[in-house]
Amino acid sequence: MGKIRIVKGDKSERKLSWWHKLYFPVIFKGMWYTLKLMFRKKMTVEYPEERFHLGPEFRGRPVLVEENGKERCVACGLCARVCPPLAISMQAAETDDPKERYPLWFEIDMLRCIYCGLCEDVCPEEAIVMSPEYDFVFTSRAEAIMTKEKLLVPKEKLKERLEFLAKYRNPNYGKNYQFLRSNNIHSLKDYSQQS
Ligand code: SF4
Ligand code: SF4
Repeated sequence: MGKIRIVKGDKSERKLSWWHKLYFPVIFKGMWYTLKLMFRKKMTVEYPEERFHLGPEFRGRPVLVEENGKERCVACGLCARVCPPLAISMQAAETDDPKERYPLWFEIDMLRCIYCGLCEDVCPEEAIVMSPEYDFVFTSRAEAIMTKEKLLVPKEKLKERLEFLAKYRNPNYGKNYQFLRSNNIHSLKDYSQQS
């Protein structure tokens, strides 16, 4: 076995002064910093007892907008077509409403959803939007399938997000493919209102 060679007086070794060897100054410096932070505004919340609001730009669970007791959705299928992980499926049916079509059933598989927001982006009716909901749990795969009943949320509860979309999305909506609102005669959505 080789011997371990100890080199004394290595020049790279840091020399400590007697002041540094005391260690108390750095300990007090650290304690002073901790004390200062104790009186600063708290940056943490005691979740789940305390809830936090992430603002209208946050993309939580996608939901279907309910207006006057009905879904806005016209079952056009655009959201299902654009969804990258193919999380959306639906069955269209006919109705006597001016919108003519509605989803007989509509499902989002939340085990697939990646919260990209593309479904919201393409929807011509603002019928599917990203809600502020960020904490929901499933205990089985079946529970992760959000049916139409679980997806429907009244418009009033999504006001903040709808206003955000009206401000940032709507002015550019359809710009690249010349979509005209006036052509959308089958909508139940009141376009005279911003949300
Ligand atoms: S894009 Fe909008 S209107 Fe079309 S099926 Fe999806 S949610 Fe319904
Ligand atoms: S947020 Fe993205 S992944 Fe989730 S349902 Fe919409 S398009 Fe699909």
